[in-house]
Amino acid sequence: MSEPLGLFGGTFDPVHFGHLRLAEEAVTHLGLASVRWTPAGQPPHRGQPQVTADQRLDMVRLATAGNARFVIDAAEVEAAAPSYTVHTLERLRRELGPTRPLVLLVGADAFAGLNSWHRWRDLFALAHVAVSHRPGFPVETSSLPVDLAAEFGCRRAADPAALATSPSGAIATFAMTQLAISATQIRRLLANGLSARYLLPDDVLDYIQTHSLYRNP
Ligand code: ATP
Repeated sequence: MSEPLGLFGGTFDPVHFGHLRLAEEAVTHLGLASVRWTPAGQPPHRGQPQVTADQRLDMVRLATAGNARFVIDAAEVEAAAPSYTVHTLERLRRELGPTRPLVLLVGADAFAGLNSWHRWRDLFALAHVAVSHRPGFPVETSSLPVDLAAEFGCRRAADPAALATSPSGAIATFAMTQLAISATQIRRLLANGLSARYLLPDDVLDYIQTHSLYRNP
């Protein structure tokens, strides 16, 4: 069986060092061949982002440039329809075949809401789920919704490296460097004319300034 492939979706409004460390440490902890970054076009779970999907995609391209293991998947941005992870995973499965291990990467906050995602139970037939720790969001059965806690209980893999031994179906957690950075915090700083430097790559910050993004509260 070949090395697992990671899929990392998000709004990336804007992309920041929390995202980059999650993807980088997932490569190390899970032995991923690569991480496919998939910015959401029209995220179904939240309000409209403040900048266009193409601008969010541009920023992800800038942030990930130079990392040979990071690959951009622009399909959700290019699609006119709302972005559903299950559709992206189905497309990847068609591309990769049934045996390649696929790992959906999510932060602990996103995982806690997984049971509200479109056809969420189908995700496990398509991919493993790897949950990174995030400050303020414990990954404990007691803090999850009941139906998700049940899936977590029976699918849990104690060793993240075990995800390489099957194509899909397990849930693992991994501890990443804890960075209490969020896109919300960055948007708020920029809207208030404050510095967001060292929370995200300089190239992304330059892009934000050049295009006058996130100026409005
Ligand atoms: P917002 O503040 O706008 O909600 P965000 O910073 O949470 O945005 P998203 O694009 O919504 O960023 O997140 C994409 C993925 O990255 C999610 O799975 C989220 O849990 C994870 N993530 C984001 N920031 C961090 C962080 N600092 N540590 C760990 N995981 C993170």
